[in-house]
Amino acid sequence: MPGDILIVDSVATNRIVLKVKLVAAQHRVRPCADTASALAEIATALPDLVVLDVTTDSAAALAFCRRLKQQAETALVPVIATGSFSRPGDRVRALEAGADDVLARPVNDQILQARIRSLLRARDANLELRLREDTRRALGFAEAPAGFDPGATVVALSPDPRFLRCADRKFAGCRNIRVRGAGFSPGAGLPGELSGDLLLVDGRDAALPEAELYRLLSELRSRSDTRNAAILVVLPEGQATVQAMALDLGANDLVTAGASAQELVLRATGLIADKRRNDALRDTVRSGLRAAVTDPLTGLFNRRYALPHLENMAGRATEANHRMAVMVLDIDHFKDINDRYGHAAGDEILQQVAGRLRDNVRAVDLLARIGGEEFLVAIPESGADHARQAAERLCQVISRAPFYVGGDAHAIHVTMSIGVSLSGPDPAPLLSKATAATGDLVRAADLALYAAKGSGRNTVSLSAA
Ligand code: GH3
Ligand code: MG
Ligand code: MG
Repeated sequence: MPGDILIVDSVATNRIVLKVKLVAAQHRVRPCADTASALAEIATALPDLVVLDVTTDSAAALAFCRRLKQQAETALVPVIATGSFSRPGDRVRALEAGADDVLARPVNDQILQARIRSLLRARDANLELRLREDTRRALGFAEAPAGFDPGATVVALSPDPRFLRCADRKFAGCRNIRVRGAGFSPGAGLPGELSGDLLLVDGRDAALPEAELYRLLSELRSRSDTRNAAILVVLPEGQATVQAMALDLGANDLVTAGASAQELVLRATGLIADKRRNDALRDTVRSGLRAAVTDPLTGLFNRRYALPHLENMAGRATEANHRMAVMVLDIDHFKDINDRYGHAAGDEILQQVAGRLRDNVRAVDLLARIGGEEFLVAIPESGADHARQAAERLCQVISRAPFYVGGDAHAIHVTMSIGVSLSGPDPAPLLSKATAATGDLVRAADLALYAAKGSGRNTVSLSAA
């Protein structure tokens, strides 16, 4: 995953050495001697990641970092801060300024490269979600309302009970973070329920052998309850290979076992905020997808969903050598109803018709609104007799009781005509391709519908084909 990386470092040799290493890993590199030229570079093109040295003028470097994180266009660009971080609090200050990671000089090459890969991966996932969200918004779907924040859960995972107690103490000052301990024995499998916002994994070799840690991280990334959680691994100082491996296997961040509570909390809250943002995006994308296939007036599936779904059903019916019935239902004289009672009353009738239909089809049947006052019902495993009975029942469901709209002022009698077609009992050449079959089935049902209209409405007609 090569990226466009901006190096900000006042020491020329540092810039050259780092550039050589990053170019060798296929990245494109733009070296800058100071934050002013870095800002100019960013203005020409947004980089994928920034490696920012904070050794020489740490105040200016941290101000630069803060600025990137505060501006909407640059907020998602990951920043790795490098420096000596010799005084207590130096690392915390860089994290507070918004750095996604802090790496002490001399920077271990293996860790830096793994860190870059991990941050670029996270950023790509983030951008993908944003893109889908933009599409959703462009299609005209409204913003999802902000929900109630129930606070975050940190799940501490370790075979060592002391680690669990210690994690609890370290988050004691955070009112909206709840820590839950999840003990387990290495090699005996993980506990069944691990859902939380952040998984704090004890990766100290005393607690968990290296190979066990790798297995654990892979499992956490593949389980449905932990796949989208943020993972923060506690590791001993040094051990570059383990650190790099942990990041490559899906850890979002690492913290050394000796780190201050403040650093741990800062890293954890940063990860939780990212995870929450991604959750929210995922939710809106999901609800957007639902909205894209739903008719807003009736809540039924729309035409966009119905036709490909019908294709799937037809394919399955052909495979199983079953017959499938397709009905096109059309409200009779609906124009007259609109003219007489108004468009709003017409809308309400459409909703109530949809409700009655919904109450009278099974979960395996497909029900959709495919046009103004036209609906489609598909019934798998249905022969001609069964299809006719089902269609007649739907006709009766609409005609047998009047509709009341707008404060029950009028009882409005509504009827519906239904055309039915059936897929062949065995895959005839015509039906060998599901796509062709679907189009033909709907067309045949449409023709049958005209016949039903012609024979007086409020009736069912079966396609001759
Ligand atoms: P037929 O028995 O031959 O089907 O007669 P019809 O009046 O139902 O058929 P036609 O196709 O002439 O008219 C359909 C009407 O449905 C016209 C249109 O105003 C109305 N309609 C379509 N969509 C909506 C809608 O979303 N809301 C309302 N209230 N009316 C709609
Ligand atoms: Mg019509
Ligand atoms: Mg009609």
